[in-house]
Order: sequence, then C-alpha cells, then structure tokens
Amino acid sequence: MSKVNAPKGTGDLFSPQIEKWQYLEDKIRSYFSRFLYREIRTPVFEHSELFQRGIGSETEVVQKEMYTFADKAGRSLTLRPENTASVVRAAIEHNLLNDMFPLRFLYIGPMFRYEKPQKGRQRQFHQFGIEVFADGSPQVDAEVIYSAYNFLKEIDLRSISVEVNSVGCDVCRPGFLEQLQTAAREKKDALCVECQRKTDTNPLRIFDCKNEKCIDTSNSFPKITAHLCEECAVHFDQVKAALQILQVEYKINPRMVRGLDYYTKTTFEIISGQLGAQNAVLGGGRYDNLIKDLGGPDMVGIGFAAGMERIILHLQEVELEPRKKILVAYQNPEIQDAALGLCETLWRSGVHAYMEYSAKNLKKQFKKGDKLSANYTFILGEEEAQNNTISVKDMSSREQITIKQEELAQWLKKNI
Ligand SMILES: [Zn+2]
Ligand SMILES: [Zn+2]
Repeated sequence: MSKVNAPKGTGDLFSPQIEKWQYLEDKIRSYFSRFLYREIRTPVFEHSELFQRGIGSETEVVQKEMYTFADKAGRSLTLRPENTASVVRAAIEHNLLNDMFPLRFLYIGPMFRYEKPQKGRQRQFHQFGIEVFADGSPQVDAEVIYSAYNFLKEIDLRSISVEVNSVGCDVCRPGFLEQLQTAAREKKDALCVECQRKTDTNPLRIFDCKNEKCIDTSNSFPKITAHLCEECAVHFDQVKAALQILQVEYKINPRMVRGLDYYTKTTFEIISGQLGAQNAVLGGGRYDNLIKDLGGPDMVGIGFAAGMERIILHLQEVELEPRKKILVAYQNPEIQDAALGLCETLWRSGVHAYMEYSAKNLKKQFKKGDKLSANYTFILGEEEAQNNTISVKDMSSREQITIKQEELAQWLKKNI
C-alpha cells in the first residue's frame, strides 16, 4: 500500500518539539492573566460571511488565502484565517459585551491560510492573541503593545523592535485615500498589475505589496500620519506618551497598514531581527468599527495576534528543563508484581516512572533506561524484595545506594 502524508503546509507536532509548544502555551496563559485576560475558544470554521465582512473583501486574505468550502447542506464555510472576527462574533452571540467585565480575551489555536509554505509559515499555523473591547483610551493601546513587547522579552526573544502607526478613522481616512489614489494613478505604470487594480478598489492595500518596485514607488506616496484628523492625532500622541511611561522603545512606520481592513487609529508590529530576515512575529491594532460591522453595538476594540511557529523557531535555542524520570527494573518475573506496585506508588506521588512489562533480564531493562534517558533506575532483586528495600542507581554518577521502602517518600522529596 502507498503511504499517505500530511497535506502541504501542515505539520505534525511531537516530542521534543511539542514540549516547546507546551512551554510557550503555559507561558502565554500565565503571563496574560496578569492583565486579566481570560481564554476564549471559538470554532475553527465559521460562516464565510463573517470573514468577508470582518476582514474586508479586498484583502489578500479574503481574496486568495481562505479555505472556503460548501458543507453537505450547501452552506459556505471557511476555516478561520484569523481569530479576531470570531471572538467578536462569539462576544455578540453570547451577550458577553453586556455580561462580562473586563472584556479581555485571550486565544490560542490553529488558523488556516492558503499561502506558499516557508520557514515559520504554514497553511495550518498557530496564533495566540488578545482582544480588549469597550475601551477606547490611548493608554489601553499602549498597554496592549507593552504586554506583547514585554511577553516576548520575558520568553527571551532577542533583537525585537516595536513599530507603530495610526491608520486614521472614518473622518480622516477617506480624504487621505483620495490623495493616495491620485498619487498612485500618477505612478500607475510603476506599479504591479495587482497594485494597479488596488489603486481603484482599495489603495491602502498597495502598502501590503511585497514587490520591490511597488515598495520603492509607494515610498513617495502621501503618509497617513500627515493626514490624521484632530482626534486621531491627539490619540496617537497619547499612545506614544503612554509607551514612554511603559518604557517601550518604538519606531513610527507610516507604511504599516496591516493586511486587514478593520483597523482604525493605532496599528503596531513587533519585528524580530533574530530570525534572519526582519520578520514580524506579532501584529495588531485598534478596530473601532468591527463590532458594529459584525452586527454588535457601537463598541471599540483593540488586539494583536502573534505567529507561534515563528516564536517556536526562536525557542529552539532555549534549553528546557527536562523532567526527572525513573526506570523501575526487576531481576526476574517473580518480582514483577512488586515492581508494578512500586511503580504505582511513584505514579501516585506524581513521579514520572516507567517499567518494561515483558523484560527478559536486567541488562535489557537497563538498555531501555538509557533510551529513556532515565535519571534514576530503581532495581528490585530477590534481596531487595526480601528486605523491603530498593537499590537506587543514579544514572549520571553511576553510584548505587540502597534505601528502605519506608524511606522512599523522603528520598523522592530530596531527589526528584
Ligand atoms: Zn481620524
Ligand atoms: Zn504591487
């Protein structure tokens, strides 16, 4: 029979990689609870309409990258390409916007985008992120940026830098878009076909284009930061002031518009220089119209999403503390039951223990102990069984001592 492999752009996670994922997930949950975020889990697929309305039908994500399919009843469903629209949908659906306080959500899970797979980018990829609803103050923007920045520092991601921008609001953006459109039309021939199309439909998205020529050309286009209305300008200044209090070093990047249409005012990215090329590991921003656009009340929001694969690439270098393991070995089949009893005592005490059930002799069991990288081997022989003792071998020093069964708890406390 021919074998079946995992689809392109997906992967299997197992030891020793999986320990790094667990480590990261534990860190995320404990860290963000400091800021009173509580976890939310939404389905991996939603009605396609949610993302079309939420993310924007002109975005790369919606145009090219969504896994959209009809189910057996003919409904159009989409594997979630991001989680913010789903969190908003869930909060509206379950009336959390009235019932919960504070409205702070944390999510961790797989997302799906049909992209060209490369290092740190998969078609099924994982993100964690946070969302804060109902707080429009500039200080909350700064707090969200700070919490992201400080988290990456706490897990020891080095050479990170913060870039911020304001993409304006309904008041100032239309005027800016007109100017941007005029500038883009003048330079139409210097833009790629895709950007020529975007010039008419959604000129802001020209800044997303990775084509060198388009980047060069669009560098001379008007900058949103020079066209902010009074409210947006004041908001942006206050975000910057709060970032200073929180000791977050940042750079202003007026080109940063993020790939999703729902952003208003503050947007930000955290870039890591550590992963070779300058790579955004995390990005987000304010979305003051999204909740309303998805059928909820007129309520503001802000959040970010971080790419876990990219963060894991960094964690490769982190030496995780392995848990101590004990192999329980027995001299002959008559003593196997006693060994099983000893194992049970260890498991009940929370110790990581293993025994071979069909071992022929001690030598073979010791070999398995090496494979397990066991820290200690407990040996039960006839003598030990008779005297109610255990021979304990330290596998790194190769020293062996004998302890009494009743001293076991004490020994475990000291050594494990
Ligand atoms: Zn504005
Ligand atoms: Zn282009």
